[in-house]
Amino acid sequence: MSIRNNYEGMKFNYLLVIKYDHDGRWICRCDCGVEKSIRGFEFSRGRIKSCGCMAAELRYKVNQDQVKGKAPKDVRPATPRPPRFEPDYS
Ligand SMILES: [Zn+2]
Repeated sequence: MSIRNNYEGMKFNYLLVIKYDHDGRWICRCDCGVEKSIRGFEFSRGRIKSCGCMAAELRYKVNQDQVKGKAPKDVRPATPRPPRFEPDYS
């Protein structure tokens, strides 16, 4: 039985493929140093780009963008307050 795709030595985003593991999984080393067994089709199709640290970085970046006021569409401008009742001095 041969391995259908040989990814050994290839780099997918943060993941460097070290060697074949089993069941279509490959031992990958992330740029951050973490080694993980990942299914070949997941990193080759870009579904998995890192050991998970990249997702964390992206989340961080999104947060940074929100801080800079770049985009979030779900944030609406402050709604005007309802008119206050005038105090009754009578
Ligand atoms: Zn990582």
